[in-house]
Amino acid sequence: TEHSPKRAIKELSDQLISQIAAGEVIERPASVLKELVENAIDADATRIEVRLESGGIKRLSVTDNGRGIPKEELPLALKRHATSKIRDLNELEHVLSLGFRGEALASIASVSAMTVTSRTAEQSCAYSIHEGDVGVAAGGLGTKVDVEDLFFKTPARRKFLKSEATEAAHCKVALERIAIAHPTIEFRLVNNGKPVLVLPVEESRARINRILPDEFARAQREVYAETATARVYGWVGLPTAGRARTDAQYCYVNGRFVRDKLLAHAVKSAYADVLHNQLQPMYCLFVDIDPIKVDVNVHPTKSELRFRDSQWVHQFVMHAVQNALAPALAGLSSEAEE
Ligand code: ADP
Ligand code: MG
Repeated sequence: TEHSPKRAIKELSDQLISQIAAGEVIERPASVLKELVENAIDADATRIEVRLESGGIKRLSVTDNGRGIPKEELPLALKRHATSKIRDLNELEHVLSLGFRGEALASIASVSAMTVTSRTAEQSCAYSIHEGDVGVAAGGLGTKVDVEDLFFKTPARRKFLKSEATEAAHCKVALERIAIAHPTIEFRLVNNGKPVLVLPVEESRARINRILPDEFARAQREVYAETATARVYGWVGLPTAGRARTDAQYCYVNGRFVRDKLLAHAVKSAYADVLHNQLQPMYCLFVDIDPIKVDVNVHPTKSELRFRDSQWVHQFVMHAVQNALAPALAGLSSEAEE
């Protein structure tokens, strides 16, 4: 094949840079939902509503009652690498907010038609920003981010979206994952005018049992262990409540839902010998650890992480789950002996 002649090096436009970055973080409506709901939580909202049209493909909006974005900061909020959450490397290493990369709003704006409307307590009215223009708008205290026509600017991406029902289902799963870690926040998810998920403020366990399969509430044990630098707590299902899929496994590190092989392995090891090989345990576990001991800046979506002392974390979590299951397992084996 013929090689094309070398072309001169050129800097990419900001728009194209954001579209490339969006490719890493914004895969589908559910990823937009995750980013916007995390922003609402970082803004201390106590009520968050997500409205979808056509599974979020046509429109996805998130309304919160958080602290809002001051009018003069609206253009900055949409700029890449602009954030109110960290200032320097030290703050990055100790970060506990869900966001810190300052990329989500810029990325979403680059692949959709996005409008942000916000009002802080100091302002007598709300302001909105759309395509760089700021103007007076109707709106209560807090922020509403309205995302229309996701991926219409990037048709190649648009093609990868599934049916409206499938995208709506992904949105529900994404919101459930976040909601489990925030039972003191009220959540609503509405698709095409129909409520899909309505979560009142409740106790942690009530929130979990509302979202996990019904069998979980009937066969669960509480987990708790604590050291000077880490804590693990939550609920694990008894081996008798194993299931075929890993869809009822929820793990959180410092309030963030994570898919982490090390943690999954630690939990699974605690069930060794008592759970049939093909079956998966149900669990919902929260690991709170000194942020200096974990690096969340591994992947743009932050769903992967790296523990500084991974062997220690593995043992810590495995023992905590073993201890929670031990009394129930003692019962099981004595039954087997009789
Ligand atoms: P990050 O969350 O990593 O800081 P984003 O692009 O998601 O980056 O948001 C940029 C900034 O806009 C945030 O740092 C925050 O100051 C502000 N912001 C975004 N969403 C909200 C919201 N719902 N309420 C208040 N402030 C918000
Ligand atoms: Mg964010």
